[in-house]
Amino acid sequence: MAEDIHPDPSLIGGVPTPPIAFLPEPIKLFQTRARRFAFLAESNALAPYLTFLAALSKLQARLAATLPPVAAPAPMPIARARAAMPPIDRAAHAGDPELGATLAALLEGAVEIVMPEPARLALDAVRAASDDDRQWLLSNILSDQIPDDSAAPHLFVAAAVQVHMARLAAMLDAQTLVPVGFGLCPACGGRPATSSVMGAQGIENIRYAACACCGTQWNEVRVKCLCCGSTKGVSYRSVETTEATVKAEACRECHAWVKIFYQVKNPSLDPIADDVGSLGLDILMKETEFRRGGFNPYLTGY
Ligand SMILES: [Zn+2]
Ligand SMILES: [Zn+2]
Repeated sequence: MAEDIHPDPSLIGGVPTPPIAFLPEPIKLFQTRARRFAFLAESNALAPYLTFLAALSKLQARLAATLPPVAAPAPMPIARARAAMPPIDRAAHAGDPELGATLAALLEGAVEIVMPEPARLALDAVRAASDDDRQWLLSNILSDQIPDDSAAPHLFVAAAVQVHMARLAAMLDAQTLVPVGFGLCPACGGRPATSSVMGAQGIENIRYAACACCGTQWNEVRVKCLCCGSTKGVSYRSVETTEATVKAEACRECHAWVKIFYQVKNPSLDPIADDVGSLGLDILMKETEFRRGGFNPYLTGY
């Protein structure tokens, strides 16, 4: 054996701690998502809807690149930090004029997009909505609550909120984030759409949940329910029997399930686009006693 072989110092004492979170890079986030939606539309029964979401994501990328800079989130009050609350207080943003301007720009830009008729009617309705009605829509999205009977108008408002919150989250310092509760985004307190077992070097096989609101991805241990935090009674189901890259992580404790993506097998999987693209798994899970726990405004009502 060669004598000049030394152990890698970074491996002494075990695996290094994975970063708690990856903050979004808004322009890249939405550009990547737009390309993925467009790709998924090529071979999917939902093609018209996925093509529309590709165009909407492209518009989000354009807004992230061209809107005036947003004011950095205020330094977190000490009481909030002590209470392990996320630095972005989403509830306080319902009346934020910068968010209102982002919504107005998104509604304006969306007029040019080809979309299914129900989406077109919803867009017209939100464009004509009073300030009070827009406030109501924004408050629902900022608290992850979408009434089933008005999913379509909320979709446009959610897209605007994603742009604004991703731009805010991008200005945070990931090092200062701390866990804020079972399965909640440490940047904004939002719920995850899905989680992914990563494939990138240095974080292989580590799981990160993706915030449906601000796009932050945060570390969660594997085989743990993202809805109640239970590590007991977690099981996996998929449409494909072997080599599935998308599975339902189902919890017997709270009867919720959330999609888990294996980026380690397919690095192109997008936490939001592939959630819509894998609707077949939602249909499969509807036949079970489990309810969907992942939050995705693009899937409400499906
Ligand atoms: Zn978030
Ligand atoms: Zn659970």
